[in-house]
Amino acid sequence: MSVTSDTKVIKNLINGEWVSSNSKVTLDIPNPATNEILAKVPVSTKEDVDQAVAAAKRALIEWKKVPVPKRARIFFKYHSLLSENHAELAKLIVYENGKAYKEAYGEVGRGIECVEFATGAPTLMMGETLSGIAEDIDSEMFRYPLGVVGGITPFNFPMMVPLWMFPLAIVCGNTFVLKPSERTPLLANKLAELFTEAGAPPGVLNVVHGAHDVVNGLLEHKDIAAISFVGSQPVAKYVYERAAAQGKRVQALSGAKNHHIVMPDADIEKAVQHVLSSTFGSAGQRCMACSAVVVVGENDKFIDALKQKADDLNIGNGIDEEVLLTPVIRKEHRQKIIGYIEKGVAEGAELIRDGRKEMGEHPAGNFLGPTIFDHVTPEMTIAKDEIFGPVLSLLRAKDLDEGLEYIKRSRFGNGATIYTNNAKAIRKFREEADAGMLGINIGVPATMAFFPFSGWKDSFYGDLHVNGKDGINFYTRKKMITSRFDA
Ligand code: NAD
Repeated sequence: MSVTSDTKVIKNLINGEWVSSNSKVTLDIPNPATNEILAKVPVSTKEDVDQAVAAAKRALIEWKKVPVPKRARIFFKYHSLLSENHAELAKLIVYENGKAYKEAYGEVGRGIECVEFATGAPTLMMGETLSGIAEDIDSEMFRYPLGVVGGITPFNFPMMVPLWMFPLAIVCGNTFVLKPSERTPLLANKLAELFTEAGAPPGVLNVVHGAHDVVNGLLEHKDIAAISFVGSQPVAKYVYERAAAQGKRVQALSGAKNHHIVMPDADIEKAVQHVLSSTFGSAGQRCMACSAVVVVGENDKFIDALKQKADDLNIGNGIDEEVLLTPVIRKEHRQKIIGYIEKGVAEGAELIRDGRKEMGEHPAGNFLGPTIFDHVTPEMTIAKDEIFGPVLSLLRAKDLDEGLEYIKRSRFGNGATIYTNNAKAIRKFREEADAGMLGINIGVPATMAFFPFSGWKDSFYGDLHVNGKDGINFYTRKKMITSRFDA
C-alpha cells in the first residue's frame, strides 16, 4: 500500500459521477508482464460504500418501474458499444491482467455474450399462469427485482465475471454496486463508462474500488438484498456465510481443481493440445484450468508428447500475439506457486519439467515456465490445493473407476474432462464424475451465458448459479396472485 503520489488514482462511480474515494490509501496496478505501474486504485472505505448503496437505493425507485423491454434496449446499445470496443477492451485486459491477447479477445467475446443473453429479459422474466386451479379461480406468477445487489469479482476474468452479474441483475430491475478486483480495476471502469454511454441512468450501476473494507461494507449493509461473489475458496465461504447470516441471498463461486482423464484410446495429439492450452493458458489462472491429469493405463507416449510440447511453448508478454504462456498476476503470487513446487518435490512427486528455469528470461515480469509433476498421488498437497499457476500434476490410474475416484476425493467440483472416443466410458464419466461442468474431448468446458455456470462441492456456495435461468431466478423474486372470478 502507498499514500497517493503522481500516478493517476482511478475513481469510483457513484450516482453517475466519477468521484474520488474518501480514502487517501491506494494500491499500485502493475502490468504483470513488466511491473510498470499503470495507475493506482483507491482502497475505498465503508463511507464510500454507504454513498454508493444510497445512490443505488434512490435509483431503484424509478428503475424497477421502467418497462422490461425498455430496460433491455439499453443492453442492445451496450452490446454495440462493447463490440465496437472489442479490441481496446482486450488490450486493457492484457495490460492489467497479463493474459495473452487472443485469450483476452476471447474473454471480451464471452462477456458480450452475457449482455446478449440479458437483452432477452422480456422473455426470460415471464412468469407462469394457470387458468382454473379451482372452480372460477386462476393463478399467476410474476417476477420482481430484489432491490440493490452487490457484486464482488476476481482478477482473472476482469470483463467476463462482472458481466456475469450486473447486466442480468440490472435488466431484471435491480440496481447494482460493483466491487471489482483491486488487481484489475481498470477494465471495470471502462465497462461502467460504456454502460453510462449506452444510456444507463445515474445510480443504476455504481463502482466502488478497494479491498476487504468494501467487501465487508457490502456484506453488512442493510440495504443490500443480494450478493454475487466470485473468487477464491476461503473468501467465497466467508462471503457466503457472512452475507447469509445477514439474511441476504448469496451466490458465491469459488476455487477449483479440475481433473482431465486421458483414456488409453484417446487421440494423443489432440489430448496434448487441449491439456496444454487448458493448463498453461492464462498462466493457469482460470477456474476452469486443467490442473491434474489422470493418465489411465501405461501411456508413456502421451506423457512424452506433453513434455515435449510444453518445452515448445512460447513464453512472453501477452500483447505479442504469438505467446501462449504469460505472467502470473503478481510477484507474491509467483512466490506462492514456487512454494507449491517445493512442496511437491518434498512430498515425493517427480518433477519432470521445472518452469523455474525460465524465470530469468523475462526478469521484469512475473513469469514462470510450464511445470509438470509425474507420479502425483491424491493425498499430496499439489493434488489437493488450487495452485492457480502454470503447474500440472499427473496422476496414474489403472482404470476409469480409479480416475473417477480421484475426482470424487477432491473437495472441489468445478469442472472435469475426459479424452476418449469410447461411448461406454463417456457415458460412465457423464453419469459419475463428481463435478458441475464436464467436458468430453474439450479442454475448457466453460458454459455459454444461456446455461448456468455450475460448480459443485467447495467450488460453489449457494443454490442458484450465475447465468442462464438460474441467473434470472437469482436476481428476481416471485409473487403469486390467486384470483376468484365468480362475481
Ligand atoms: P480473491 O478471493 O483473492 O478475490 C476475490 C474478491 O474478493 C476480490 O474482489 C477481493 O478484493 C476480495 N477479497 C479477497 N480477500 C478478501 C478478504 N479476506 N475479505 C474480503 N474480501 C476479500 O480471488 P482472486 O485471486 O481475485 O481470483 C482467483 C480465484 O477466483 C481462484 O480461486 C479462482 O478459482 C476463483 N474463480 C472462480 C470462478 C468460478 O466460476 N468458480 C471464476 C473465476 C475465478
